[in-house]
Amino acid sequence: MRYSIFQVLKEGLTGHRGWRPAWRDPAPQAEYDTIVIGGGGHGLATAYYLAKVFGAKRIAVLEKGWIGGGNVGRNTTIVRANYLLDGNQPFYEFSLKLWEGLEQELNYNAMVSQRGILNLYHSDAQRDAYRRRGNAMILHGSDAELLDRAQVRAMVPFLNFDDARFPIRGGLLHRRGGTVRHDAVAWGFARAADALGVDILQNCAVTGMIVENGRIRGVETTRGPIRAAKVGTAVAGSSSRVMAMAGMRLPIESHVLQAFVTEGLKPVVPNVITFGAGHFYVSQSDKGGLVFGGDIDGYNSYAQRGNLPMIEDVVEGGMALMPMIGRARLLRAWGGLVDMSMDGSPIIDRTPIEGLYFNGGWNYGGFKATPASGFAFAHLLATDTPHPTATAYRFDRFRTGALIDEKGVGAQPNLH
Ligand SMILES: Cc1cc2nc3c(=O)[nH]c(=O)nc-3n(C[C@H](O)[C@H](O)[C@H](O)COP(=O)(O)OP(=O)(O)OC[C@H]3O[C@@H](n4cnc5c(N)ncnc54)[C@H](O)[C@@H]3O)c2cc1C
Repeated sequence: MRYSIFQVLKEGLTGHRGWRPAWRDPAPQAEYDTIVIGGGGHGLATAYYLAKVFGAKRIAVLEKGWIGGGNVGRNTTIVRANYLLDGNQPFYEFSLKLWEGLEQELNYNAMVSQRGILNLYHSDAQRDAYRRRGNAMILHGSDAELLDRAQVRAMVPFLNFDDARFPIRGGLLHRRGGTVRHDAVAWGFARAADALGVDILQNCAVTGMIVENGRIRGVETTRGPIRAAKVGTAVAGSSSRVMAMAGMRLPIESHVLQAFVTEGLKPVVPNVITFGAGHFYVSQSDKGGLVFGGDIDGYNSYAQRGNLPMIEDVVEGGMALMPMIGRARLLRAWGGLVDMSMDGSPIIDRTPIEGLYFNGGWNYGGFKATPASGFAFAHLLATDTPHPTATAYRFDRFRTGALIDEKGVGAQPNLH
């Protein structure tokens, strides 16, 4: 069924009896050509592009819980292409271009909102770094504008300009960045992949890898063994656990990242704002809630819930940047499991096991990468060669030293 205004009108006039489930609930088959482990944004996008662009058949997505239950439905919905390094920026610009056409492509309203992202700077050195970043973005075909204090104040007058400990000096504005309704992305990709024949198997946890003579032959699951010639894993915060089933240790730590939303307020925050003197960022959802977040919890964990010290830290950042946030009542807080790589950049690569491919290490920022990650992973799975925008996302960079360390902070997940 194609979604359209005419379909909505027709259903409205006929008692809404014609709507169908957005995707099927098939029984697992004994064998597929390709299995994608993880029904998050990346896994579903991978399956979709595999079928749509690369003409692959007999594909299954195996999800241990439900579609949208992982980070894809837990993030703070920010999409952007504002990176500095050559290894990153073309990939994220490719992703932003895919976001720009995604709703038409999937025939699904994902509430893509290019409301802009404003990264604040508070010192001359930070301004210079943002100028450099902005120039790199423009050189890669993206957009960036350096604003001074007066321009920032005209745009977001409610920030603390007058008696702040870290006075705002200006900001780097990336107008094409913004927000996308996160779980709608999972549903949109699931529905479109299903329509192309992809089997989406929920409540189907992978419990083991079937490897014979150095080659993947399939996976063990809670719904029985399923064989496949190719297996791609895209399980975000569970990456190290799933790859351990194939005997691999990854340069990845799993941490909890928390997010927060207030009660609904009248429109006040026009774009996404990031604090440059602490880790705090905020936007306003279409329902009116202020959606904000900050740093990861400072210990490794596989639990999808966080702790109080980080809540205090995030709220302190919010109060320093926009004291009026202290008047808003917090509605909900939640945590997701982020796969922090040691240089802060992702991995989309083959593994030493023939036919087994890996996608992970997305850190804080894998949501904005969802379409490009799916596209690039599908490219790798289908052609055995990396997508041109993802050639740097290799495992061996941790051996050769060709790291993609955007911030130059080293192997410190909490600083990425
Ligand atoms: C609080 C928070 C805020 C964030 N904010 C942003 C943001 O604003 N912008 C941004 O770009 N990024 C953000 N991120 C990061 C982003 O959400 C993730 O990097 C991205 O969603 C990860 O990819 P995914 O969607 O495929 O992951 P997930 O949705 O987590 O998908 C992985 C799936 O694998 C499944 N799985 C795990 N183990 C198994 C198994 N054994 N068998 C089968 N399935 C399995 C899980 O159940 C899960 O559904 C945020 C993350 C969090 C937690």
